[in-house]
Amino acid sequence: MSKQDYYDVLGVDKGASKEEIKKSYRKLARKYHPDVNKEADAEDKFKEAKEAYEVLSDEQKRAQYDQFGHAGAGGQGFGGFGGGAQDFGGFGDIFDMFFGGGGRSRDPNAPKQGADLQYTMVLDFEEAIFGKETDINIPREESCDTCSGSGAKPGTSAETCSHCSGSGQLNQEQNTPFGRVVNRRVCHHCNGSGKIIPEKCNTCGGAGKVKRNKQIHINIPAGIDEGQQIRVTGKGEPGRNGGPAGDLFVLIQIRQHDFFVREGDHIFCELPLTISQAALGDEVEVPTVHGKVKLKIPAGTQTGKTFRIRGKGVPNVRGRGQGDQHIKVKVMTPTQLTDRQKELLREFNEIGGNDSTDEQDGNIFQKFKKAFKGE
Ligand SMILES: [Zn+2]
Ligand SMILES: [Zn+2]
Repeated sequence: MSKQDYYDVLGVDKGASKEEIKKSYRKLARKYHPDVNKEADAEDKFKEAKEAYEVLSDEQKRAQYDQFGHAGAGGQGFGGFGGGAQDFGGFGDIFDMFFGGGGRSRDPNAPKQGADLQYTMVLDFEEAIFGKETDINIPREESCDTCSGSGAKPGTSAETCSHCSGSGQLNQEQNTPFGRVVNRRVCHHCNGSGKIIPEKCNTCGGAGKVKRNKQIHINIPAGIDEGQQIRVTGKGEPGRNGGPAGDLFVLIQIRQHDFFVREGDHIFCELPLTISQAALGDEVEVPTVHGKVKLKIPAGTQTGKTFRIRGKGVPNVRGRGQGDQHIKVKVMTPTQLTDRQKELLREFNEIGGNDSTDEQDGNIFQKFKKAFKGE
């Protein structure tokens, strides 16, 4: 079955811009979408347009299509882009073969930086606020002492791989519809290391590295917050061939506190007050992470009113000042009243004790009463 030219499918000419291609594809997709168009060949047309668009909207694929067409000459082509190239394992491989994607060649003997490591540290609420010094144990790969990292049994040594001459790569010639091409592969004799170890070190089994628990001292700065990371330079995995070691990242998580909630450098909490404390005013002691603080509650304090105690929050981790503690009042309605208390409250009610003059609330009792008048 011969394939229609992708440009013809989309009804654009060879020099069409990306915008034109997109516009034309959208038009066709709307017209032939199987949910919309119930004609017998609509689905095929839709697929055709989609395939054409997938190639022509991608600069690399379009360039290759312009050069090789469907590449179906002689019937052994790769059956369309974007899914049909089974013979070669996908479009990317073909592209690499023709356009020098083999630029990924790596010299196995070049110095290489070790991998970074991550460690999650869970701190108590106060520990994060005040900081702490601690030692952690992390399993880390280290150069094997027995073989000094060579992987070879002491007294023997690694040999250059004869299959790849130490390059770690093999050139493979392959027949394709376009002639013979050279494809570079990782040498499977030495797994790309370029070396063969005839007698392996007993300690590390030839890897040249061993896992060992390493104690590392960590200084956690005061004010560190959830999700922040401490970078300890050079404490990751060791480098290869003289490359530098990676870094260790300590990711901070913080346990919740029963009473305090932290947001950045500020600490929030709720202060429960009795009805009489709120109505008559009081002086109360409020806990902060820095110790108890006296707080004056003015008479007539409402639920939701917040007080701020300056400087009783979290020290900024970058040394920029100190946060505050914010205290939100919650007036608690009594639930277990004695008969005598009930009697007093009824009396209180009768003499108009519930009249509020709170300006901040705009007197919600007044508004509430007003809301019925329209009925
Ligand atoms: Zn070893
Ligand atoms: Zn090799």
